[in-house]
Amino acid sequence: MQAANDQCKSQEKSENRYNVNSNICCQNDVCSVSRGIERANYILDQGGDVPMETGPPLLPSWYDHQLICKGQQYFTDNIFAMFVAALSGLTVLLSVPSILKILRNTNRSSKPASAYKRYYETIVHMMHWYQSDMRNPNSKGRQSVAIVRKMHENAVKNVGPITQKDLALTQFGFIGMAIVAQDKLGLPKDNRSLIHFWRVMGHLMGIQDKFNLFSGCERCTIVACKELSRRIFIPGIDQPIEHYNSMCSALLTGMWPLVPAMNPEAYFEFTRRLLDCPARKLSIIPTISLYSQIFIHYLIKLPIISLILLPWLNFQIWLTLFVQNTIPILAFYAFRYSWRGDV
Ligand SMILES: [Zn+2]
Repeated sequence: MQAANDQCKSQEKSENRYNVNSNICCQNDVCSVSRGIERANYILDQGGDVPMETGPPLLPSWYDHQLICKGQQYFTDNIFAMFVAALSGLTVLLSVPSILKILRNTNRSSKPASAYKRYYETIVHMMHWYQSDMRNPNSKGRQSVAIVRKMHENAVKNVGPITQKDLALTQFGFIGMAIVAQDKLGLPKDNRSLIHFWRVMGHLMGIQDKFNLFSGCERCTIVACKELSRRIFIPGIDQPIEHYNSMCSALLTGMWPLVPAMNPEAYFEFTRRLLDCPARKLSIIPTISLYSQIFIHYLIKLPIISLILLPWLNFQIWLTLFVQNTIPILAFYAFRYSWRGDV
């Protein structure tokens, strides 16, 4: 491993490792493993001591608009699987003690009704990022970034520091599952634009480049994401901290108006399997729900079937978002008794 490190370091001197326009970051698998693990370890071991950046959210010098547009198009073309990835990512993100503490202390997501409101707002922010011209400081995406930064600053005043480690783990929450479980989700194998998109988003949210989970190429980023899973998320969901189960349950139950067919128990097991956790036995209804979901993601990988199925699934997500945005009937029906007082 030392030899591999030396080899990678000497390679770095002759190229700009962080230059996305250069396709060369890791020349071989040995380099990518070494670099990916090194990045994950650096984030976990050093990032907890460094607070988020507080300067104005400006675009970085390495911003590549073509790649950003490609990343946004990837999201639009695969919105169904990308939503599943984000919801699973959020499910595992709650297992991080510092993140759970922030969410609990801002006290807006411990019951299904408030969880629905909070996470639906998060989805709206995410949609703005994926749909805006990020070069325009007045675009909805950039305004959304400013709002989120303000919310983070308020949380710091009330709860304590948000660190570079928290932000990098949150990057995983939004997109890590789409990278580590791309095949299981039925997503196309094209990470480069997504990685650049989320590197830019991380920068805008106040992550220094050395702590940015997506500061490398595709190969070492996959390794870094898998290392974060191994060290943080898998133990986090299988040996959960106090309050994780209740917050997780509130999240998955609160998502019912957006995904009425979802069974929370089955969805949690589906998330575990995305991270290659050993399978757990479920009762009959969750088992049917789990295998239906696995089967759908298998089908969208099949070329001919996906021609019909993928647009249909994507359409359902767009329709759901439209309905929730205009006449949120299901949310009103589900939370009519708890809408007051809790939110
Ligand atoms: Zn690399």
